Amino acid sequence: MLAAYAVEVTQSRGRRFPEAQHPYRNDFQRDRDRVIHARAFRRLEAKTQVFTRRYSDHFRNRLTHTLEVSQISRTIAGALRLNVDLAEALALVHDIGHPPFGHAGEKALDAAMRQHGLFFDHNLHALRIVEDFEQRYAAFRGLNLTFEVREGIIKHSRDYDESEHPELAEYLLDQRSPLEAQLIDLSDEIAYHTADLDDGYEAHLLSLDEIRDGVPLFDRFYREVMQIYPSAPEKLKFNETVKRILNRFVDDLIRNTQKRIDAAGLHSTEDVRRQNERLAAFSLAVDAERKAGKEFLYENLYFSPALADEKDDAERVISELFSFWMNHPESLPHNYQEKAKEEGPPRVICDYIAGMTDNFIYEQYEKYCGA
Ligand code: MG
Repeated sequence: MLAAYAVEVTQSRGRRFPEAQHPYRNDFQRDRDRVIHARAFRRLEAKTQVFTRRYSDHFRNRLTHTLEVSQISRTIAGALRLNVDLAEALALVHDIGHPPFGHAGEKALDAAMRQHGLFFDHNLHALRIVEDFEQRYAAFRGLNLTFEVREGIIKHSRDYDESEHPELAEYLLDQRSPLEAQLIDLSDEIAYHTADLDDGYEAHLLSLDEIRDGVPLFDRFYREVMQIYPSAPEKLKFNETVKRILNRFVDDLIRNTQKRIDAAGLHSTEDVRRQNERLAAFSLAVDAERKAGKEFLYENLYFSPALADEKDDAERVISELFSFWMNHPESLPHNYQEKAKEEGPPRVICDYIAGMTDNFIYEQYEKYCGA
């Protein structure tokens, strides 16, 4: 039984191109499946999350990160009696617009675009993927997703101003998104926060002592685990600690969001939309723990000297390839040359690069910019 403030699939604002109902999957389940069958989704497997393949084959890539976000979102949505199918579809699509090389790639692509008075934004790019670039179906371009999934792609992590983005006006920018979309950003953060501690430790970029010194919540749970499993190997105590952090964040998000929902007296999705602020939120105490952990990761992992060379590589590869194609548009694939006539070379080169996997962009770099 869904809560009154959940999104009912039967009340969906529907698809751009109306389609007949499927006999045994509802519209949000179909959207989830369409995302999984998209080429851009499969390419997430070869896109960096934080660590490149150089480190290990079992660290997270953007696809396995996405699966973790999906699993966490489903748990939270279920506990809050929200629409689990919608939350799952939104989680699976949330990173589909990311370029190769993780955040370094995103930054480099944005910098290249800004030289032409444009910019790169992975949410807007994700919308273009599902609306335009994916071509699987004979009846329409793109995936023809429901309004609620497209709205969630745009609104899950930030708010866009209608005056700056008139093209997004249909997504009700002056209203909050449904709770199913609001929880994606926080599930994302729970997933990468815990996963990056894990991978950073396995990569020997973060030591146990460093983490215990720098993250009080981790230290507290580690002490607890040492009491329960004094003779367990260090790595298993580490895992038990990370598991407790994940559970604490998820549990707090569920409880605190429920409290805020109750306090706001919500009776419908429209009530959620009319709120002045997002209702999905951690409690103040856990939010402070989350911030402390995140600051630790920024200082000691994301900006660590050990990862600096790869980031520099990523920026160099993207900016040099971008300039190469600006100067040699005739070397772009034929369909991109055609599109460039309408949309201009920078946007088309950006779209092309953003879709690439880490492997493919390196091949292109060797081919066109290699010594
Ligand atoms: Mg993510």
